[in-house]
Amino acid sequence: MRILITNDDGIFAPGLAALVGVARQFGEVKIVAPDRERSACGHSMTMREPLRVKEYDFDGLEAYQVNGVPVDCVNVGLTICWPDGCDLVLSGINNGPNLGFDVTYSGTVAGAMEGCINGIRSISLSMAVFADGAPFHFETGAAWLSEHWERLMTLQLPPRTFLNINVPAIASPELNGTMFVPMGKRVYEDRVERRDDPWGRPYYWQGGVVIVDHREENTDVWAVSNGHASITPITLDWTAHELLPSLTTQFGSRASHA
Ligand code: MN
Repeated sequence: MRILITNDDGIFAPGLAALVGVARQFGEVKIVAPDRERSACGHSMTMREPLRVKEYDFDGLEAYQVNGVPVDCVNVGLTICWPDGCDLVLSGINNGPNLGFDVTYSGTVAGAMEGCINGIRSISLSMAVFADGAPFHFETGAAWLSEHWERLMTLQLPPRTFLNINVPAIASPELNGTMFVPMGKRVYEDRVERRDDPWGRPYYWQGGVVIVDHREENTDVWAVSNGHASITPITLDWTAHELLPSLTTQFGSRASHA
């Protein structure tokens, strides 16, 4: 099995090493990752400047660091590591959760999304840690992946679909199991903070406090909050198909839908 691994925390991230440690037991691993942390870059790509690629000795494996984002890394990786294609793209293990609407900001999820766009089975994996300074427990994510590897690789997935997985950042024995769940909501309060620089000019910093809605049961947010690993299948088709007939009718006489 030919495996391409990337992440958005950068090539030196411990979560990447944890993921590589599992994957290399199951196939031939090559790594292409950003040269620094690029979290929250979403599904962006670099087009207006060159991508520089530097070889990196990743514990004896073929690896490259790139001055780009995960999408760049996947596409560069498919070009230089696996020109004849590969069987699996893994992205992670991220040092924080990628749940609910946050998946749209996530560089980790974007890495898997780009693998999926290239027609390759793709998985993003994140440690759901919720408190600043709490341990990430990458070893739990690694053990979970190792235990479920065969099942993950043989799941029947329709085209243009990938898996986004979050594992609670707790010790392995405390895990409650695994749930297949839809995206929940992750809403932020005080998203933009206004501050003043030393010259009295205002600047703005995005961050905010996340309001995790635990009440909405059987979502990814709920699953990891209750000690379950969550698996959310994500499709690249964002169309709200069920709205097409109604919108066509509302729009009036000259509209029609396929
Ligand atoms: Mn990250």
